[in-house]
Amino acid sequence: MDTKDPAQRENNPVYSHTNDSPVTLTNDEWKKILPKNVYDIARNKGTERPWSSPFEDSKEIGTFYCAVCGNPLFRSDTKFESGCGWPSFYEPISKTSIIYSADHTHGMERTEVECGRCKSHLGHVFKDGPPPTGLRYCINGVVLDFEKAQDAEKKYNEGKK
Ligand SMILES: [Zn+2]
Repeated sequence: MDTKDPAQRENNPVYSHTNDSPVTLTNDEWKKILPKNVYDIARNKGTERPWSSPFEDSKEIGTFYCAVCGNPLFRSDTKFESGCGWPSFYEPISKTSIIYSADHTHGMERTEVECGRCKSHLGHVFKDGPPPTGLRYCINGVVLDFEKAQDAEKKYNEGKK
């Protein structure tokens, strides 16, 4: 299953899986580029309904990218079933994948997680995750793009024969 929506990048000139130079567009500019559901979460710090993301229980092997700018964020082997209703990971791909900031909204002390390249809101990180990090990155599926690992898939299918 290809979960990518090609239309999503049609008008997005900054989208790239390899260019890691920071992206600093204004929200007016983002609004023209991004689909409304992505914009609402990424730029207005929205939250999707729990259990609404097809990524929540996805077990496919591959890489999760920022749906706003294409920055590599998480690998499928750091994804785990948290039961919280949102795609959950215990570790980002690299130190530059994520930016952290304190979030005091809704009367809670939380740590917000933003994309390291475009500073879009992704979700929050909590300290109740599994080893080895003990962290739970609770991420809105709407702001994730998934690309299946072709080689892993091939190997898996060959193993089945
Ligand atoms: Zn991004």
